[in-house]
Amino acid sequence: MKRKKPKKQDLPQKICPVCERPFTWRKKWEKVWDEVRYCSQRCKRNKNNILTN
Ligand SMILES: [Zn+2]
Repeated sequence: MKRKKPKKQDLPQKICPVCERPFTWRKKWEKVWDEVRYCSQRCKRNKNNILTN
């Protein structure tokens, strides 16, 4: 049972707390996916801009 077209949706997703948008697993994150919290370096830098309470 092989699928010819893997679905993108099969990849894990997270929601970036900075821009609040979902981002999808990428190859470059395969070893650090558990630690990835932000969709981009830009958001990582902007994390202090998150308004909490
Ligand atoms: Zn983001």
